[in-house]
Amino acid sequence: MNTPIFRENKRNLKKDDLIVIAGAGGFIAGALTRFFHDQGYTRIRAIDKKPLPNWYQRVPGVECISMDLSEKENAIKAVEGAVEVYNLAADMGGMGFIERFRIECLRSILINTHMIEAAYRAGAERYFFSSSACAYNITLQQDPNVRALKESDAYPAMAERGYGWEKLMSEMFCQEYWAERGLKTYIARFHNVYGPNGTWDGGREKAPAAICRKVIEAKANNKPEITIWGDGTQTRSFMYIDDCTKGIDMIVDCDDLIATPINLGSNELIAINQLVSMAEEIGGIKLQRKYDLDAPRGVAGRNSDNTFIQQVLKWEPKTPFMEGLTKTYKWIEQQYVDRQAGKPTVRDID
Ligand code: NAD
Repeated sequence: MNTPIFRENKRNLKKDDLIVIAGAGGFIAGALTRFFHDQGYTRIRAIDKKPLPNWYQRVPGVECISMDLSEKENAIKAVEGAVEVYNLAADMGGMGFIERFRIECLRSILINTHMIEAAYRAGAERYFFSSSACAYNITLQQDPNVRALKESDAYPAMAERGYGWEKLMSEMFCQEYWAERGLKTYIARFHNVYGPNGTWDGGREKAPAAICRKVIEAKANNKPEITIWGDGTQTRSFMYIDDCTKGIDMIVDCDDLIATPINLGSNELIAINQLVSMAEEIGGIKLQRKYDLDAPRGVAGRNSDNTFIQQVLKWEPKTPFMEGLTKTYKWIEQQYVDRQAGKPTVRDID
């Protein structure tokens, strides 16, 4: 493993410069808000359309606003005075959601379209957009032993219907705002991010959280079986949330990456069956596996080629998967226990 280089910010972002984070009631932007807060930034505006009690994290000292950013007027208000804008707001979820609700996914284009125009007009210095590995050509992802995807593999375009095409179009907006108008934009293509303080049930959760929850439920209900979507041979790579937030900061700090999509993910390929085994190990239980071959399963395999990010930033994920999964499992278990005990958890307030 190369030693990751975490540099002091070169962009001279001052501690009292206003940072605006969209989607901050959700998983990654919530963690990003905490990341900047912990770095000593004193003016952070966090925005999400969810009512405040439903946010996964509300960081003390941060201005938290509940507002729908697909509305132009709200986007204008949101970025007023901003030096940096991070757009991570999107109507999204795991495969179960993005295969079923393509219109909702496509409509997220309104958020980025208004936010980037508003950021440009407000004179923001930097604009970050969270893209996705779903922007990649799906014909390259039909084998579990997939070749890792490098940045150029998004074109010729054949993205995931709905969600992936929205990401690809929004990336293009970011590139043209730099080319035509000189707004410094940064685009990370995230590959499955996981960790505590994210969706773990309700239909939008992604594989690591869903599998942890199923193991926890099986244990609690004394019913030692688990239903797995697909045949379990599908492979993915998973990045722990702390590696993700650090990576975002490094990307925005690097002027070589302006308007240049870059992979931000792990390159350790893991089959869903392996993921189940690891969650079982953490839970100290063995479950009988049932496979639901009609359930959404996404592409057969997907991995991140990290050659480019290692070359420009020397970034690589630091958190071993078992370590990150254990933290995630424990957090979900606590949520589950709290809910069973009638204590409010985030989703109960929906
Ligand atoms: P999330 O669902 O936890 O967070 C997204 C947040 O955006 C939600 O809290 C939602 O309420 C908010 N939002 C949706 N529409 C909005 C609107 N109109 N106005 C204001 N807020 C709105 O998802 P996440 O996992 O934190 O993902 C963050 C970003 O990263 C998204 O753009 C997502 O597409 C991207 N991404 C995530 C992953 C992953 O593995 N989690 C992978 C690839 C890309």
